[in-house]
Amino acid sequence: MNTESEAQVLIVGAGPIGLTTGILLTLNGIPCRIIDKNNRIPSKEYFSRALGLHARTLEVFEDIGVIKNIMTKGRIINGIGFYVEGRRVTGVSFRELPTSYPFMLSIPQSDTESILEARLNELGVFVERQTELVDIVQSDLFVTAQIRLPDGFLQTQAYAFVVGTDGFRSKVRDLCNIPFDGSEYEESWLLAESYLSRDFPSDEANVVISKNSCFAVVPMPDGKTRVTGPDTSSMKDVDEVDLTLFDTALKEMGALANISYTDPEQVTRFRVHKRLARHYAKHRVFLAGDAAHVHSPGGGQGLNTGVLDAYNLVWRLNLVIKEQATFALMDDYEVERRHAGEVTVFGTDKAMQMLRSNRSAMSKSITNLVLPWLMKSNFGKQLAANMSQIFNHYRHNYTEQEQEYYNCSIQLGDPLLRVVPPIDVAGDPLKIQPNGKFTFLVFSAHMKKEALAVELKKLVTVAKNYQNFFRIILIADAPMQSIPDVESRL
Ligand SMILES: Cc1cc2nc3c(=O)[nH]c(=O)nc-3n(C[C@H](O)[C@H](O)[C@H](O)COP(=O)(O)OP(=O)(O)OC[C@H]3O[C@@H](n4cnc5c(N)ncnc54)[C@H](O)[C@@H]3O)c2cc1C
Repeated sequence: MNTESEAQVLIVGAGPIGLTTGILLTLNGIPCRIIDKNNRIPSKEYFSRALGLHARTLEVFEDIGVIKNIMTKGRIINGIGFYVEGRRVTGVSFRELPTSYPFMLSIPQSDTESILEARLNELGVFVERQTELVDIVQSDLFVTAQIRLPDGFLQTQAYAFVVGTDGFRSKVRDLCNIPFDGSEYEESWLLAESYLSRDFPSDEANVVISKNSCFAVVPMPDGKTRVTGPDTSSMKDVDEVDLTLFDTALKEMGALANISYTDPEQVTRFRVHKRLARHYAKHRVFLAGDAAHVHSPGGGQGLNTGVLDAYNLVWRLNLVIKEQATFALMDDYEVERRHAGEVTVFGTDKAMQMLRSNRSAMSKSITNLVLPWLMKSNFGKQLAANMSQIFNHYRHNYTEQEQEYYNCSIQLGDPLLRVVPPIDVAGDPLKIQPNGKFTFLVFSAHMKKEALAVELKKLVTVAKNYQNFFRIILIADAPMQSIPDVESRL
């Protein structure tokens, strides 16, 4: 376990994003401290929130060594069915996604957090609970944090960096005076989890457009089904849990699709915001997860986007802390991940607008006609790809001149998936950036074997100068003699 004074990075908040950040830093050998003001131990009793893990998150979870447990606890969802007024009008499949995880995994956030925390503990780091960040003051070289310990004592400690993964009401964001631009949606959301006797395929999540609203119906691993959606008929107070509409909607679905349900559990009404932090960083302090972006839970993107924030942030911190890169490398964290946050907030907002307009009879018939047509077109595939986040790219981070300079079909900022198939001929997945390493892809086509071997050896020497931060993969069109430190793929 890192002692408080050894830690170089303070992580504020031990939700899924803080835990992922802690694991990634520890795997890279960077001592960190992780605190949480609450005493909760992740469990079923705790409201489970995120239910859907998408492909890119699962790839990251493979990389940090938790995928086996996550898969064991989760339930594979192969696609999404769309129901309008009781009829299944169309569907979207995840099966064609070019990834080792061509599905969405249904797993309650409480289980995800338990697995992440167990992994962090296995690596020797433990969450300090009932330990609250109270203040931070930055200088050029470090951040001084004031932390309230469980016994009330105020501790002052300096860190090289602070990561704020402290959720929607982020104290870190407030202390940095970073505005959380956006607003709250008019309507509140309803959520219930229960056992349904259903006609819906059990490996599909479903979007049910009913009389007054639109509900997501998602099978859970324990055999229950989560039903959640906006209560578009009212603008009721958050605390009021009046489930009449929800109850009617479920019954309506039951009548239409032979579904009956028993005693809903986890009945909740909650408010939804669309907000994006104006900045993701202030000098040595960074925001990730809900501290940086919140949006409608439709599409299940919040936790997934946050995990990718953590992934992007930690490889940068790793290089900067180990003095393999200058501090300027940190600037692109905001450029890349704020853009990703914006895309998510904007995309989910569009969906919310569609739901609102869906209340009129005319737009309902448009939905009836247009939705199946849209899904059959490339839009359905695009939707599955967008949800999975595997094709997310950072092209916008490069100028036109930079793109033109390289002048090739692959653009700067493209994901590796656009460049090579994710699975090789032996069926092995090509892991992207494992443990924060950069990947050099060398394409052997049109090169003589001898010349290629010379170039590869030069590359290996360069990589060694950078303490093996690089991984070299030869994409060969024919078998060739192995070269130390070069992985080969046919
Ligand atoms: C109903 C619902 C359904 C959802 N479904 C999905 C889904 O299917 N897929 C998906 O990807 N996302 C989903 N989300 C969103 C997802 O739950 C969040 O994006 C996720 O919890 C964010 O994790 P986080 O670690 O950033 O923040 P949080 O989980 O909010 O954790 C923040 C932590 O910081 C701690 N903290 C706060 N202030 C301090 C302080 N000053 N000092 C120390 N600790 C502090 C808190 O105690 C808390 O433990 C859903 C959300 C809701 C509400």
